[in-house]
Amino acid sequence: MCLICGWIYDEATGAPEEGIAPGTPWEQVPMNWTCPECGARKEDFEMVQL
Ligand SMILES: [Zn+2]
Repeated sequence: MCLICGWIYDEATGAPEEGIAPGTPWEQVPMNWTCPECGARKEDFEMVQL
């Protein structure tokens, strides 16, 4: 989950419009990927249990 805007990355859904295929584990999301909502970097995200 993005700590800045609250956007949630769901591994089952991925982020197809960002080039992240559905089913991609968070660990495999590129380090240079940024939040589609606010542009935050991966290090600004935090794991949450859904
Ligand atoms: Zn964000």
